[in-house]
Amino acid sequence: MNVTNAKADAELHDRASGDAKSIPTADADGDEHVAARQGTWFGISNDDRTPGDGPFVGVVFNRPIDQVLTYRASNLVKRIIQPGQRVRVPLGRGDRLAVGYCVRVDALPPDDLERARIKDVVEVLDPLPLIDRKMLDLTRWMADYYACSWGQALDAVVPAGVKKHAGTRIGTFLILPESIRADLAAEMLKRRLPPKQTAVLEALFRSDEPLTVADVCRMVKCTAVPIQALRKLGLLHTVRRRLPVGLSSPARAHEERPALPVAETQVRDASAPEARPRPTLTAEQATTLERLTPALESGGFAPFLVHGVTGSGKTEVYLAAIEKVVARGREAIVLVPEISLTPQTIRRFRRRFAQVAVLHSHMSDAERHRHWQSIASGGVQVVVGARSAVFAPTRRLGLLVIDEEHESSFKQETTPRYHARDVAVKRAQMEGVPVLLGSATPSLESWHNAERGRYTRLAMPSRVGGRAMPTVEIIDLRDEKAALGGLSEPLRQAMASALDLGGQIILLLNRRGFHTFVICPRCGHVVKCHACDVAATYHKVRHILICHTCDAERACPSACPGCGAPALHYGGIGTERLEREIHTAFPNVVARRMDSDTMRSPGSHEQVLSAFKAGDVRILLGTQMIAKGLDFPNVTLVGVVNADTALHLPDFRAAERTFQLVAQVAGRTGRGDRPGRVIVQTYSPDHLAIRSAAKHGYEEFAQCELPEREKYGVPPYGRIVRLIGRGPDESAVFAYMKDLAAAFRAAALPSVRLLGPAPAPILKIRNLYRSHMQLRCPNSRPLQLLVNGVTGRHPAPHGIEVVIDVDPITML
Ligand code: ADP
Ligand code: ZN
Repeated sequence: MNVTNAKADAELHDRASGDAKSIPTADADGDEHVAARQGTWFGISNDDRTPGDGPFVGVVFNRPIDQVLTYRASNLVKRIIQPGQRVRVPLGRGDRLAVGYCVRVDALPPDDLERARIKDVVEVLDPLPLIDRKMLDLTRWMADYYACSWGQALDAVVPAGVKKHAGTRIGTFLILPESIRADLAAEMLKRRLPPKQTAVLEALFRSDEPLTVADVCRMVKCTAVPIQALRKLGLLHTVRRRLPVGLSSPARAHEERPALPVAETQVRDASAPEARPRPTLTAEQATTLERLTPALESGGFAPFLVHGVTGSGKTEVYLAAIEKVVARGREAIVLVPEISLTPQTIRRFRRRFAQVAVLHSHMSDAERHRHWQSIASGGVQVVVGARSAVFAPTRRLGLLVIDEEHESSFKQETTPRYHARDVAVKRAQMEGVPVLLGSATPSLESWHNAERGRYTRLAMPSRVGGRAMPTVEIIDLRDEKAALGGLSEPLRQAMASALDLGGQIILLLNRRGFHTFVICPRCGHVVKCHACDVAATYHKVRHILICHTCDAERACPSACPGCGAPALHYGGIGTERLEREIHTAFPNVVARRMDSDTMRSPGSHEQVLSAFKAGDVRILLGTQMIAKGLDFPNVTLVGVVNADTALHLPDFRAAERTFQLVAQVAGRTGRGDRPGRVIVQTYSPDHLAIRSAAKHGYEEFAQCELPEREKYGVPPYGRIVRLIGRGPDESAVFAYMKDLAAAFRAAALPSVRLLGPAPAPILKIRNLYRSHMQLRCPNSRPLQLLVNGVTGRHPAPHGIEVVIDVDPITML
């Protein structure tokens, strides 16, 4: 916009340009009406409110307030207010303005509410609802199930970029009221107006979308004077609305933006989706698809567990299933773990579908906003995303897919502590669509659901192309006394021969840093984080101690902080040290390390993986980041440097996690023409998790592990709610948790077992002391009622916070 036009804009608008939070009202009724109808309405103030009755608006907040508060919608508000929009309302004693979500609009307030005390909605923040009826219902369910407030659940649904309207700006647009439009059509006004004014009206009349003052001045080659004159005559109105950044006119937005402006910062696959040949499905894939087809074609809730070994071609089945629902004009949501959301994965979907939206946490707010809007406008066929994509605002959902459904990253570890897989199943049920859970190592919860007949199990026991599962050798580290580093002699030899034969190697070590602990040889003191009860990890590159729980750093002490002994012992092996060991052992081979230390900058993940794919990198070592989903045919050796890192944690899922990690990383080899080999180093070679992973024996593992779970009443045989009390004052936290436990005991039903309270395995995190307890019950409903009731009656005192974790997946 040039200066003159900017000035023209300003002349027409005495109001300062609004920011995202406070939006001036449209200046006439007609404008609101037009704009609202066009879906462009953006905000409204409430200057001309008239006292009167409702409608009444139910509002919830992103705070632990488990109530729907009632507000009155004044004249202006009531025309546009709908459930699913955000509103600004006074809250609490001081009437401070707060943003909340409108969840209902009723003609009458609740009976018990005194009308005089009902406050007004101050402002409506969104032109259209951000959340539809279905999502309101789903979040209501989440609030009940995960013991959070409805507002907290709603807030998780809408990405921050959408809330902030990121990537847009507000502009002022000229609108022709409908009546004038009709007159113009009849050419009645033409003769009575000066030519410039007529030209302005004509320009607006011809345009499908509202134009700014600057647009019109440019098109008609006039100043703002004729526009102002028309406005005084009431022949046109102005309205403020939002547009994507850098586009001054929505008309041009139409021309210049592709239907889906998503590819810009993502991988773009130039070839048309149809141009790509589809592989002929293997017999197993075809059978699986056949079993899915009735549900895909008729719709209706139908949960499936696709249990396919690594390399069995599950993704191909998802793609074919999605094609079927897309062919019916429906949309699919595919959830993958955050670390699997690589360009490689996204490309597989973009090749097959023209309109793919991606939602993940590394996107800018503006990008997320664009993708979200595209989905909401019905312009997307497939949404691929991490956890929160389960809330993608699809219009006509036809299928939900959760790949690697066993992954713990689907669980959110902040309020609302939902599990995306479980929310996906619930969403599928509420919307009446099929849902596919896929994994080579299903969670025991899903496995059990399949055994009970709740899910249909579809097995894909063989690899594509008749490839064999790799052979797995176990190296007992107790016999490898000579091995000072991370690589035992057999592993080193296997690496040498794999390299000699031109193969590539993946090495898993699920610990980053150089040394994993620093200990005093005299008094046994372990150097911990200042803020957490956690051993600090030594990072040699930066010569610093880092806490892997809170990321705090501390200098390496020169003497023992406990007894003052001058020399400390550094021990344990992390990925940094393994990398150095590999360089020493194979000086002429390019190795790259992939962990959260080396993968900080955007694109680094893709860069390493493409170098590995090209064969420039021969050895890829890293944490669990490299264990999952990678599909490189030339990998002939996988080494698990230490299979025991998670085996002895105080968590009933320790064995399951170990099994999954070893089985998944083993699955990264033997995916090409040459057979794969896996070497697993462990101090517990006889452990069930290790033994069965070595045999690719999921069923054996499940059969042995499930009775143990049943014995203790833990998932999948019982529900757990974990309560963690935390606060800076250790004794206050413990005292409160004792009281809370007593209250639970007093209220408990016979079917509910209480364990604890006890100090949490990690006693202190970020200077907050932690005490926890567990409630266990075969069913979830009694737990829900009990937890909501008891915690509601026993609010935590000042300085203590209680975290309620329903279906917890971490016990530390
Ligand atoms: P999974 O997800 O079960 O580990 P993928 O879907 O990644 O397996 O498939 C493994 C490999 O086999 C991929 O490289 C994929 O392109 C290939 N593949 C899958 N299905 C077929 C098929 N029907 N014909 C040929 N190749 C296939
Ligand atoms: Zn810490």
